[in-house]
Amino acid sequence: MKQTQIAIIGAGSVGTATAYNLILINIVSEIILVDCNTKKCQAEVDDLADTLPWSTTRSIRTGNYKEAAQADIIIICAGKPQQPGQSRADLVTDNAKIIRSIFNEMGPISKDSIIIMVTNPVDTLTQLAQNLSGLPTNQVIGSGTLLDTIRWRGFISKEITTGEQSIEAYVIGEHGENQVALISSANIEGVPLDEYPKLGNKKLEELAKKAKLKVYGLVENKGCAEFGVAACVTALCKCIIFNENLVTPVVTYSKEYKTCMSLPVNLGAKGIFEQVYIATNEKEQQALQESAEQLRKMYKSIQ
Ligand code: NAD
Repeated sequence: MKQTQIAIIGAGSVGTATAYNLILINIVSEIILVDCNTKKCQAEVDDLADTLPWSTTRSIRTGNYKEAAQADIIIICAGKPQQPGQSRADLVTDNAKIIRSIFNEMGPISKDSIIIMVTNPVDTLTQLAQNLSGLPTNQVIGSGTLLDTIRWRGFISKEITTGEQSIEAYVIGEHGENQVALISSANIEGVPLDEYPKLGNKKLEELAKKAKLKVYGLVENKGCAEFGVAACVTALCKCIIFNENLVTPVVTYSKEYKTCMSLPVNLGAKGIFEQVYIATNEKEQQALQESAEQLRKMYKSIQ
């Protein structure tokens, strides 16, 4: 029987938190960690190996780029993280160089692999990865605004004492300054969220802004933000491994917007099965156009 293997390139805060999450939820047979800092990578593997007795994951080991290129799922979270005062977009030049060098080292990638990009700015670097990987674009995704969606839903949930999983509300567009929270379609069981007395349009906008800016407090006070994204990436892996076909926002190439950005998709074993239509009002449509324009410019800057 086939054993699922996941390679994680970049064994820093995000990569190791993702490995730990994957081990805890028992969905993968083997994890391979790859990092240019080989001593640290080996130490992370040795530490994580102590958690295996409580998991169905049978092996965690260091590996090289060529081995990673043959894994079922390849998660890329190598690169510079934000420093206090820096935006994700500020990382584009340095991290594009790192992503190019990683694809160069990996060589040909298994035709069935799914790549999940995490390194920021994730929209632009997913587009770069789609072009460098040689894989169909539906097999190369980015974690994108899934994290912002989760954060927004978390704040809404607290406000109305209703579990996040009952809330259908999406943040799409750029995973960054120009993200778009879709208030017009946000609902619980068909009831628009802006009709909830404790919410309303203004409150929802305020909570979306809080979700967008949350990263800055984390970077300022703890230097990184790994647990939320690790949980999101683990959920994406689960969706792929079990062919769940869940609707989730991820970074994908949009023919309509001519750029990679987060949109709701149906995600399964072969990657993106299809993009899912979501209604937007005029204001949101305008904001999405602006988000896309910034992303097209950013991608041009690294070509
Ligand atoms: P980190 O500094 O803790 O780890 C980065 C790791 O990448 C380091 O171990 C470094 O040695 C490694 N690395 C650098 N170049 C490499 C190469 N060529 N090959 C292999 N490994 C290489 O940083 P972090 O906090 O783990 O963040 C990693 C990336 O993830 C950053 O770009 C950050 O902005 C991004 N991130 C994205 C999200 C998201 O939602 N998409 C959330 C948090 C962080």
